[in-house]
Amino acid sequence: MTADQPRRLLILGGTGEAAALATRAAARFGDQVRITTSLAGRTSAPATPPGALRIGGFGGVAGMRRYLADGAIDLLVDATHPFATQISANAAEATAWESAIQRLALLRPPWRPQPGDDWRIVADAEEAAALLPAVGSVAFLTVGPGELAAFRSVEGVAFAIRMIEPPAEPLTLQETVLILGKGPFDLADERALLQQHRIDVLVTKNSGGAATEAKLAAARAAQIPVVMIDRPAPPPGPRVDSVDAALDWIAARV
Ligand code: NAP
Repeated sequence: MTADQPRRLLILGGTGEAAALATRAAARFGDQVRITTSLAGRTSAPATPPGALRIGGFGGVAGMRRYLADGAIDLLVDATHPFATQISANAAEATAWESAIQRLALLRPPWRPQPGDDWRIVADAEEAAALLPAVGSVAFLTVGPGELAAFRSVEGVAFAIRMIEPPAEPLTLQETVLILGKGPFDLADERALLQQHRIDVLVTKNSGGAATEAKLAAARAAQIPVVMIDRPAPPPGPRVDSVDAALDWIAARV
């Protein structure tokens, strides 16, 4: 590889880490790397990272394979959210076909319980919904739009639901307060929110990361339980847990 043949890097994004990686890779590698970030298109006004931006699904594994071949992609960093399992599985399968493309998964570390926490760890949203009535009566639901349907059949629990954008379809959960907001959130605001809505249980996915961590500290301070949806299995293959480590992985390949 010579200086006039830049490496073509595709970042599968939708996370703060993906945006940081694009910014820092552009600064560190300059013309040595040509960056494209791919977003699913779930939010209406995403931040614009340096490099090219493409938005929307690829059309499954076959569509991604075509995209990788047409774009002559050399390196793929899957920096999608830890719960975005479909796109990660597709990336693993699409790159397995083409050995010239190297893939890395960047997954931020999960949250770990701290002293004073009362976590009820469950495998998925369905299990969280089944457990909820035994744990509390006013739930702060911060699971994202994809998991809301699991809570529709829950009885005897009122919901305060936080979303980044208003839902595309009306929420059909009983006794619902909708709270719009995008992280980072701070501890004082999270504590005030729990009090204001008389929340007695927090439901969250174990996304990890600092931007939305304050709700856990607020739950700890208020001594309320947390129904914690555990991480799905990570994609196969090489994996790092920081932007620094992903940059070093790229550096070894330019
Ligand atoms: P998913 O279930 O794993 O993916 C569903 C489909 O969406 C994929 O098969 C793919 O469509 C498309 N897709 C997902 N991410 C894409 C990307 N970065 N670029 C192009 N297409 C993408 O994903 P999800 O859980 O709905 O998450 C969607 C996006 O939101 C991801 O980029 C993720 O990083 C971000 N996000 C997710 C969560 C979460 O809790 N799941 C939280 C915060 C942010 P095709 O098969 O047509 O290619």
